[in-house]
Amino acid sequence: MSETQPIWIKDPLAVMADGAERGVVVSNGRIVELVGAGQAPATPSTAIFDAGAHVVIPGLINTHHHFYQTLTRAMPAAMDRELFPWLKALYPVWARLTPEALDLAVTVAMAELMLSGCTTTTDHHYVFPAGLEDAIDIEVAAAQRLGLRVILTRGSMNRSQRDGGLPPDSVVQDEDTILADSARLVARHHQRGPDAMVQIALAPCSPFSVTTSLMKATADLAAKLDVRLHTHLAETEDENRFCEEIHGCRPLDYLEQCGWLGHRAWLAHGIFFNADEMKRLGKAKTAISHCACSNQILASGCCPVCEMEEAGVAIGLGVDGSASNDESNLMQEVRAAFLLQRARYGVGKVSHKDALRWATQGSAACVGRPELGEIAVGKAADLALFKLDELRFSGAGDPLAALVLCGAHRADRVMIGGHWRVIDGVIPGLDVAELIRRHSAAASKMQAA
Ligand SMILES: [Zn+2]
Repeated sequence: MSETQPIWIKDPLAVMADGAERGVVVSNGRIVELVGAGQAPATPSTAIFDAGAHVVIPGLINTHHHFYQTLTRAMPAAMDRELFPWLKALYPVWARLTPEALDLAVTVAMAELMLSGCTTTTDHHYVFPAGLEDAIDIEVAAAQRLGLRVILTRGSMNRSQRDGGLPPDSVVQDEDTILADSARLVARHHQRGPDAMVQIALAPCSPFSVTTSLMKATADLAAKLDVRLHTHLAETEDENRFCEEIHGCRPLDYLEQCGWLGHRAWLAHGIFFNADEMKRLGKAKTAISHCACSNQILASGCCPVCEMEEAGVAIGLGVDGSASNDESNLMQEVRAAFLLQRARYGVGKVSHKDALRWATQGSAACVGRPELGEIAVGKAADLALFKLDELRFSGAGDPLAALVLCGAHRADRVMIGGHWRVIDGVIPGLDVAELIRRHSAAASKMQAA
């Protein structure tokens, strides 16, 4: 990482950290000092960023998404359906995905995330129609252009309609191709250590779209290459029935049989686990990505986050794919998770601080990156700064609570690894109007074909 002049983010309106009333100092991509009340930085020759109009929080971390789905938002044929029929309506459209369309979709999703205060995102890409073999390479290039920190998961499906699965034959690959490409991507792109900007994880789509052999081989490969594992689990009751019919057990038992129950894995959704299963997850240090908007739109159910946390399970937040959310705004996801879980558990158990904690420290635990998601000395200089000068905030008493309660949705500044990647609510160098024009055209073409 190049040497940068230390910057004092000075006198924020509020900051999500103890002992940093006068702000934080960042240098060389890390937070090097918290400046307490009545103090000045001890770090010499600091530049100053006046944060007097900003609420400063750790950059938000998105633990579940399918970027390509920005091309099929609010698509009439898939609307008002539950998961399985929703998937069946969308697979044939997704089979028409091209490298050019994916590049636009990824750029749209990443830009939306960054403008909402996100500094690290995952993506779960699992459709590989012919011609799109380099999907993950396309995602890496887009992340590097925008300066976003990413954990891109190499998804997979090898159980198509031919074998009793849901996806059409044209979007699946065989086991050898999937494993060879997974190893190639890790060797080519996966960075190690706390400053890593690009990481790769391995991610079969779900128990109903891959074979047992691929589930097991993927876990073995992840252990060998020392990378993380991700998949969807316990999203619907349909899935429980399907798993019992095909494998004669519940989804978590199946996951365990496949060698997945451990610290490497984080699972999207986790709605339908029983008390014993939650304990097993907690003991194994397997984390859950809670996707509040997606779960409400598909009427899948509500992840029992408080019981999970009591059982020792780390909870992160994910916007999920844009065909089921249909936005990629992570700050709005914080509010959605807060509302859903507050309604479930009541005022004594869930506060705005919990929702912000899930999207930061909780999400960092999901992706195995303890150096992210917190404003503390030695952690990454990944920060999101929000102004409270919109109508929605007027009259707010507690600035930090206002972000969640009044519905913040756009960051004014975003710093990733010590670099400003969003300035005055804009990503420098990104022509948003042109991006929307090209992305909309690609979406229309795909949906109409
Ligand atoms: Zn998903």
